[in-house]
Amino acid sequence: VIGYYNGKFLDPTSSVVPIEERGHEFGDGVYEVIRVYGGQPFLLDWHIERLLNSLHAIRIPSPHDADGYKELIVSAIQRSAEEEASIYLQVTRGAAARNHLFPADTTVPSVSLVVRPLSAKPDQKPGKLLIQPDERWANSYIKTLNLLPNILAKQAAHDAGADEALLVRDGHMIESASSNLWFVRDGKLITAPTDRFILPGITRRYVLELAGQLDIPVEQVKLPLSELSSVDGIFITGTILEILPIESVLSHPVFGPLDTLQSGSPHPLDVKPEECEVIW
Ligand code: PMP
Repeated sequence: VIGYYNGKFLDPTSSVVPIEERGHEFGDGVYEVIRVYGGQPFLLDWHIERLLNSLHAIRIPSPHDADGYKELIVSAIQRSAEEEASIYLQVTRGAAARNHLFPADTTVPSVSLVVRPLSAKPDQKPGKLLIQPDERWANSYIKTLNLLPNILAKQAAHDAGADEALLVRDGHMIESASSNLWFVRDGKLITAPTDRFILPGITRRYVLELAGQLDIPVEQVKLPLSELSSVDGIFITGTILEILPIESVLSHPVFGPLDTLQSGSPHPLDVKPEECEVIW
């Protein structure tokens, strides 16, 4: 495992981030996760394109151009000497005295990175999903550090004995907590369109390209939850999990927003496996 922070390669457990780093205090930054196969970063140009889009969306001037990020990533892989790995790359608005307003133009964005070895093949036993309300903000297309709704939904799924949360927004099944969501129906693939509410996954883009090459029809529409029973298959996609087939979908009787929870009241995310029902 190797780490990198603002120009220096180091042990990723070392304490190098200033307390008043805006990523740390505000989650004021964006990130990418890139898969390395056989020592080569996979679909790197698409990841860098999305990173630059995310930075633009939250008005962080990018500290590197596309070639600069490529050089950094390639030298990090070489230093790590890993063949099978994940790369976590993060860019924040930098370190400055805490203030909601953007810091002065002289503040330099911070770049950090971790290369972590992975086993060559992900565990491909079929997965389970738990239906959860999508409580993320209205700009989920930006890959920001602010993952609290994703974390809470995924933990609820884990507590239910599932692998991922199936996120429902306005009655439609649009995405998972850390992966894109696909359905198979009548020989067609169905996935949500890349509007502001979903992350334009790199693996999603790759699967779309493969489907095109294989002449598999794809419909980019938001499927209502009421149509779940009509689908023939489900899978999810993501950089690290690749393509994971889904064998069942669970629901929990307490499905709703967090509202204004007070300590001591029943928590809608305190999900027990025995309270869940298999609905697909
Ligand atoms: N949606 C969300 C919310 C994600 O966090 C991710 C990334 N793990 C994905 C989809 C999948 O994107 P990618 O294929 O680029 O990994």
